[in-house]
Amino acid sequence: MHSVCSQATTVPRSNFAFDSRSPASPLSKPINLRFCGLRKEAFGFSGLTHSCSSRVRCSSRGHSKEISASAGNNGTPPKSFDYDLIIIGAGVGGHGAALHAVEKGLRTAIIEGDVVGGTCVNRGCVPSKALLAVSGKMRELQNEHHMKALGLQVSAAGYDRQGVADHANNLASKIRSNLTNSMKSLGVDILTGVGTVVGPQKVKYGKVGFPDNIVTAKDIIIATGSVPFVPKGIEVDGKTVITSDHALKLESVPDWIAIVGSGYIGLEFSDVYTALGSEVTFIEALDQLMPGFDPEIGKLAQRVLINPRKIDYHTGVFATKITPAKDGKPVTIELIDAKTKEPKDTLEVDAALIATGRAPFTNGLGLENINVVTQRGFVPVDERMRVIDANGNLVPHLYCIGDANGKMMLAHAASAQGISVVEQVTGRDHVLNHLSIPAACFTHPEISMVGLTEPQAREKAEKEGFEVSVAKTSFKANTKALAENEGEGLAKLIYRPDNGEILGVHIFGLHAADLIHEASNAIALGTRIQDIKFAVHAHPTLSEVLDELFKSAKVKAPATSHGPGPSRNMLEELSYRLTMVVPEAFHNLVSSFSKAMQI
Ligand SMILES: Cc1cc2nc3c(=O)[nH]c(=O)nc-3n(C[C@H](O)[C@H](O)[C@H](O)COP(=O)(O)OP(=O)(O)OC[C@H]3O[C@@H](n4cnc5c(N)ncnc54)[C@H](O)[C@@H]3O)c2cc1C
Repeated sequence: MHSVCSQATTVPRSNFAFDSRSPASPLSKPINLRFCGLRKEAFGFSGLTHSCSSRVRCSSRGHSKEISASAGNNGTPPKSFDYDLIIIGAGVGGHGAALHAVEKGLRTAIIEGDVVGGTCVNRGCVPSKALLAVSGKMRELQNEHHMKALGLQVSAAGYDRQGVADHANNLASKIRSNLTNSMKSLGVDILTGVGTVVGPQKVKYGKVGFPDNIVTAKDIIIATGSVPFVPKGIEVDGKTVITSDHALKLESVPDWIAIVGSGYIGLEFSDVYTALGSEVTFIEALDQLMPGFDPEIGKLAQRVLINPRKIDYHTGVFATKITPAKDGKPVTIELIDAKTKEPKDTLEVDAALIATGRAPFTNGLGLENINVVTQRGFVPVDERMRVIDANGNLVPHLYCIGDANGKMMLAHAASAQGISVVEQVTGRDHVLNHLSIPAACFTHPEISMVGLTEPQAREKAEKEGFEVSVAKTSFKANTKALAENEGEGLAKLIYRPDNGEILGVHIFGLHAADLIHEASNAIALGTRIQDIKFAVHAHPTLSEVLDELFKSAKVKAPATSHGPGPSRNMLEELSYRLTMVVPEAFHNLVSSFSKAMQI
C-alpha cells in the first residue's frame, strides 16, 4: 500500500547534474509521416512534391511589392491581398490548417515566432511520448512477476539518462523537420517573426532589431497556442522547480519529485519518473486525483497507476509557495487547505514539477487593434472558431484555433479546428463536433476517452429527459490482452438505450489510446450502437474489447437494414422522432423520401 504524506519531511538532496546537448540535426527529406489525422498525400509524398496549383505560391520571394501596395490604413481592410490565408503560429493547429489550405488551392503563409511545431512537437506530445515509450519498456523489464509469467528472464534493467533524453530530443527534431519540409514542399510560405494583427485582414511580423513586414490576407487564423500556467507564489528556476518544458529535457531524475496537479500531464510524468526510479508526491487542489476523468475509470487508474507505485499524494490542498533548492536546502512547498485556506503542511523535496495546466499565449497579438478582449487570456470564438469582439460581434475573416481558444487543448483538436476553418473559408460550412474528439493519457496502461463522462451524461439526461445506460467489458476476457499478460483494463460505454446513441466511451487498458477511435469515429459519423455492433473485428485483437462492449449494450431501437452510415442514421433518427409525435403521416413521408433518394 502507498502511504499518504501528512508530515513535513526532509529528504537527502539528490545530485542534480545538468548537461546540455545540441539538438540532432534535422532530416533533410520528408518521410512517410502521418500527423494529427492528415493523409500522407497532404505531405506531398505521392507525386505531390512541389505540385503547387496555379494559385499556390511556391516560394516566399516576391511578396514585398504586393505588401506595400496593399498595406494601407490599419483600420480599413485592404482591397487586394498578398495571401488567401495567413496563419499566426506554426504549431500543430497552424500546420494542419496550412496543409489543408494548400490542398484546397489557397495561397497560404504561416508566421512563426519561434520554432516550427510549437508545443506539441517541441515541448509536448512528441518528446513526452518518447519518454513514455522508455518508461513503458523499463516498467515491463523491471516487472519480474510479469516477465516470469511470460517465461522470460531479464537479469537487470537499467537506463542511461542522457540516452533517454537524446531519444526524446531527437524525435522532436525529426518531427519538427518533417513538419517544416511538408509545408515547404507544398508551397506554404513560412514567415519568421512574431505576428501581430494590426487591423482587419492585416498582420505585421518581424524580429527584434529588424524592420517589420506587413502582409495581408483574405482570412487570418490565430494559432498561437499556450504556455505552462504557473500559479502565483511558485518560483520556477528551471532546475529544481520546473514545468513540463524543462522536464521533457530530462536533465535530471530526482530521487523525490513533487508533481503539482494530477491532470494528464502530471500523470504521464509520474509514469516516467517512477519507472526511472523517482518517488513521486502528487499535490492536487481537488478532493480526488485525476479530476478530469470519468470517476469509475479514475478509481481504477488510481488502483493501478498510483497505489502500487512509489507515489503518495495530498488532495484538497493548494501549493501557495514553492521555493527552489538553494545553498544546500531542498525545494520547499507550502500547502494550505483548499477549502479553509488554513496552512496544512510544508514539504521538502528534491524537485517540483508544476503541472497545473496551460495558459493561452496571446500576448502581443494586437487583439486590441481589432477590439477583441481575451477571456482569461483565451481568444473568444463561436462554434465555427470565428473570433468574437468586445461587443459580441464576429470579427470578419478572423479565426482562432487550438490552445489559444481553450475549447479543447489537444493537438489533434487544434488541427481539426484548423481544417474546419479552411473548409468554411473555401465555401463549405462546417462545425466540428468536439464531443467526437478523443483524448488520451499515455500512461502504462493507457487511458482514453471520448464524449461525456457518466456524471455529465446523467446531468444532460436529467435536463433533456432521456434515459442513460452503461455497459462495461473487461480486458480480462480478451485473448490478445491475456496473451500479452496485460488483462488489467476496462472499457465503459455510456449510451441512450432508446435510440442507441453513444454518449461517451472510456477505456483503461493496453493501447487504450489506439482503441478509442472506433468509438470517436462512430460518434463523429452518427453511427448508432445497434449498427456498429454488427461490424466485424479481427480475432484475436484488442479491438474485440470494443466489439464486446457494443454487443453488450441493450438498445431498444432496431438496427438499420442498410447497416452503419450517417445518412441512413439521420433518416432513421428523423423517422424515429417523427413517429413519436405523429405516427403514420410523417413516417410515410420519410419512407417515401428515402425511396426517392434511394438510400
Ligand atoms: C507535456 C505535454 C504533453 C502533451 N501531450 C499531448 C498529447 O499526447 N496529445 C495531444 O493531443 N496533446 C498533447 N499536448 C497538448 C498539445 O501540445 C497542444 O494542445 C497543442 O500543441 C496545441 O497546438 P496549437 O497549434 O494550438 O499551439 P502550439 O503547439 O502551442 O503552437 C503555437 C505556435 O505559435 C507560435 N506563436 C505564438 N505566438 C506567436 C506570434 N504572435 N507570432 C508568431 N508565432 C507565434 C509559438 O511559437 C508556437 O510555435 C501536450 C502538451 C504538453 C505540454
